[in-house]
Amino acid sequence: MPEAPKNTLKPTTDYSLELKNKKTLQFIEDVTSNADEVQKKVLEEILSRNAHVEYLQTRGLNGHTDRETFKKTMPVITYEDIQPHIDRIANGDTSPILSSNPISEFLTSSGTSGGERKLMPTIEEELGRRSLLYSLLMPVMSQFVPGLDEGKGMYFLFIKSEAKTPGGLVARPVLTSYYKSTHFKNRPYDPYTNYTSPNETILCPDSYQSMYSQMLCGLCQHKEVLRVGAVFASGFIRAIKFLEKHWRLLCKDIRTGTIDSQITDQSVREAVMKILKPDPKLADFIEAECSKDSWQGIITRLWPNTKYVDVIVTGTMSQYIPTLDYYSNGLPLVCTMYASSECYFGVNLNPLCKPSEVSYTLVPTMAYFEFLRVQRNNGVTSSISVPKTLNEKEQQELVDLVDVKLGQEYELVVTTYSGLYRYRVGDVLRVAGFKNNAPQFNFICRKNVVLCIDSDKTDEVELQNAVKNAVNHLLPFGATLAEYTSYADTTTIPGHYVLYWELSLNGNTPIPPSVFEDCCLTIEESLNSVYRQGRVCDKSIGPLEIKVVEPGTFDKLMDYAISLGASINQYKTPRCVKFAPIVELLNSRAVSSYFSPKCPKWFPGHKQWSNNN
Ligand code: AMP
Repeated sequence: MPEAPKNTLKPTTDYSLELKNKKTLQFIEDVTSNADEVQKKVLEEILSRNAHVEYLQTRGLNGHTDRETFKKTMPVITYEDIQPHIDRIANGDTSPILSSNPISEFLTSSGTSGGERKLMPTIEEELGRRSLLYSLLMPVMSQFVPGLDEGKGMYFLFIKSEAKTPGGLVARPVLTSYYKSTHFKNRPYDPYTNYTSPNETILCPDSYQSMYSQMLCGLCQHKEVLRVGAVFASGFIRAIKFLEKHWRLLCKDIRTGTIDSQITDQSVREAVMKILKPDPKLADFIEAECSKDSWQGIITRLWPNTKYVDVIVTGTMSQYIPTLDYYSNGLPLVCTMYASSECYFGVNLNPLCKPSEVSYTLVPTMAYFEFLRVQRNNGVTSSISVPKTLNEKEQQELVDLVDVKLGQEYELVVTTYSGLYRYRVGDVLRVAGFKNNAPQFNFICRKNVVLCIDSDKTDEVELQNAVKNAVNHLLPFGATLAEYTSYADTTTIPGHYVLYWELSLNGNTPIPPSVFEDCCLTIEESLNSVYRQGRVCDKSIGPLEIKVVEPGTFDKLMDYAISLGASINQYKTPRCVKFAPIVELLNSRAVSSYFSPKCPKWFPGHKQWSNNN
């Protein structure tokens, strides 16, 4: 992810860059050494400035700012607990409900509630905190890879559509908010925020034009590129796929020094024309590389000075590691940071480590962090058990940042400057080590998520409801669904959801393919807004597939799970599978396959907001 340090006024000399890096690293030393003191101060600051907000007053915190009273008085909550407050703010109530600072906008999380993106209130000053976290990344990286100030970063960055709440506040994803902010747009010159993509190409709302122009600029400056990336691995692979589809057109533009007529955004055209010059030699070179049968190592072939790929490959994104390795010829895959709409959390202080070993050091100044211990049931379908609601004792048992234990898994709970108090983020983390007194965490998973291709997060309940809606199409044929499971298939680009269905056929009427296609579409229509946006807008998710499997397949699956040690009594069909031999078993027994014939419906904003624009 890109970063925008804000304190350089002129092109930096080596000396001042070195000094700046040193200061940043010292900052990390200081806050991690004094993690507990910093956390105490952060909580005091949040609680004292918000002492009079309705949420804290009604719970009787009475202006207390110490941890003990806070933990005794304030409940540990989920989104649904504060949704009524959020709705009031969204509907235009400007009284200090959660925060004494005015809510500047809502950040729309890829986590959903009731099928719609969760709305995270934020305040203006949080942009400064996000910028600070970004500013830590390159000084850390430069300790391991020298000379990164001597070239550019080719990052594929995009904005997404925004909506207005009925009360008039903007609602948009956190990165859209950040790229549109002056912190990013007007960042002073800095060798570390020197990207091949001009701001205009990143800020172009049309995703095709944005991708095309960013790719064109990246190709034109191919020798200057020292690092490449996107936010998530899925986004970077999408860019490579785009190149695979459009390289001829891109080469034509490079050959002639003109931009394809499909790029109609005037500001994008002007920005690209400052970079694009007729270069037949470069066009020949790209054509020669792209027309080879194999695209193995295409990154290093087209951008020969690239030192690493900067994308998140932790959590569900780890499914993309083999594809990235293939395209990059095994360049280091670097995960630099861990963040969310609620709050930016931390950085990876050892960025060249293997993806499986990535750990993030939570930066103690970002928010007040607490940790709820979780237990893992290690069966074949290893599930994680976290209590849904907490009793008083459990609420007080949450541990502080410096008190977590090595090797233990926890759910992250945050209290933020924007007005979330003891809020369960939903991520499960494992303590992997310590930087001074601050723990470093492996990202384990997001609670309850069964399927994920891009930023979509589908949980078991959503999947179950969607399937329930779809099977109605089978009723006229006397067929019912005996068993099902699902799989996030990322061997296709874009990846797509696969549902394995075993049917009980009671009637004699054959079921036409169109009925299964209707089932696919009904499932898609029933899934949450982030999934449907990925299908419709970003095209980051391919059409959903139903594979009908032979009768008896799920018995075989159970036999297999039991042979691996699952208990017969407790065996439940997993609603999602990941383990390759199980996927192979299911595929080997598939008798037919159907795809969703079109995209589901999707509109920006929540469905209950009438002004969907
Ligand atoms: P959002 O609220 O849409 O910004 O999504 C934030 C969520 O994305 C986090 O709570 C995590 O579940 C996930 N996420 C963010 N950064 C990382 C990372 N570095 N590794 C794994 N998952 C991440």
